[in-house]
Amino acid sequence: MAWKLALRKFKRYCTSISCCDLCGENVGNSVLLDYSLPQALLCQYCINDLPYFNQNLIAGNLLSWPAIHRILPHIHFDQLFALSPYIYPFNKWLGQIKYLGRFELANLFSALLCAQWQKMVMHKAVIAMEIRPIDLVISVPLHVKKWQIRGYNQAHLIAKSFAEQLALTYDANVVMRVKNNDSQMGKTGNQRRKNLADAFSLQRKLASHIKHVLIIDDVVTTGTTASEISKLLKQAGVETVTLVAVCLTLPKAKKSSVVVG
Ligand SMILES: [Zn+2]
Repeated sequence: MAWKLALRKFKRYCTSISCCDLCGENVGNSVLLDYSLPQALLCQYCINDLPYFNQNLIAGNLLSWPAIHRILPHIHFDQLFALSPYIYPFNKWLGQIKYLGRFELANLFSALLCAQWQKMVMHKAVIAMEIRPIDLVISVPLHVKKWQIRGYNQAHLIAKSFAEQLALTYDANVVMRVKNNDSQMGKTGNQRRKNLADAFSLQRKLASHIKHVLIIDDVVTTGTTASEISKLLKQAGVETVTLVAVCLTLPKAKKSSVVVG
């Protein structure tokens, strides 16, 4: 009977949302520091086992790791904070949010980013390193045509949730993508820079108090996209730009050097 089928489907749905996305265990009361995940996707064991960068080792800035600085030449942002290299399970999740519309992963990414960000802030406070207050959070925009085809911008979803959780100001309309470029996939840094020249524009004058801007993206490969946006922001009077991403793509040999978990 139809209602029995519907009930079975509903029961299966209820069961599936309470299982860990990675190991299938009951997610029960998963808590990431103070950031609880209402529709928890991971059990505490898998959360503890995620392959994070060791933020203490790099003082919360991947650019202070010489190997990273070398693979990101010609960049205009000042700091880079990423959760993990582009490896499992983050590479799987990033593909799912981008191509399969798994929007709930945006909340997972932002909760993980907030938890790691706060840990880094606490560590810096302990070692008496100054942290410049964040005046504005933005996300890497999509061109309107790409946005219409995909229907959403995953960087925007992550950034909005990240800013909400940390009570920061988020504005999705400061920077606009005015050129619908070819894909950046497979291009060298130099080709990417040429491809992205004049791809973005600032939509309005920034308030004079905005000195530190945080740009959020899903994956950083050559840093060219965020760098082009940073250049615009700096021309508008911003002094410090921090790029925050879920993943950083690393050359193969570097993948395990500063990863914990
Ligand atoms: Zn698990």
